[in-house]
Amino acid sequence: MPRRCTVCDHPERHGIDKALVSGTPYRSVAKRFRLSESAVYRHKTEHLPAHLLKAREVEEAARADDLLDQVRNLQAHALDILECAEKAGDLRTALAAISQARGNLELLGKLAGDLDERPVVNVLLSPQWVMIRTTMLKALSAYPEARAAVAESLLELEEVG
Ligand SMILES: [Zn+2]
Repeated sequence: MPRRCTVCDHPERHGIDKALVSGTPYRSVAKRFRLSESAVYRHKTEHLPAHLLKAREVEEAARADDLLDQVRNLQAHALDILECAEKAGDLRTALAAISQARGNLELLGKLAGDLDERPVVNVLLSPQWVMIRTTMLKALSAYPEARAAVAESLLELEEVG
């Protein structure tokens, strides 16, 4: 039967961990929280590293989620702008929105890659990018010259990307 750790079960465990992390000697910590020195020592060497690791993972995941939300917001805005610009026939703004959307997709891909610990996906193969590309070229069909120019620069972009 493994013995329970009196420090892990302690209501002030966070305070104890904090004291240990900030370098307070385990003897002082034991005294302050009325725990046995051996229990604090064992907790410090056997349990604290795992607690710290977990806390950092939770923190990092939260930060990544936050970033993801922000980029998703940006992406929604970029797509809105793209739609408006297309309706207004404002090609310059449409192109800027597309460029922005592409950057967002790249970021999303990287963030998702970080979260999943998978290699970064190629944004240019993503369904969203294909959709944007198709929509844009369709919108430009009334302007064959502009369409050709955009198609050409897209190809360059995709070869580099
Ligand atoms: Zn413990």
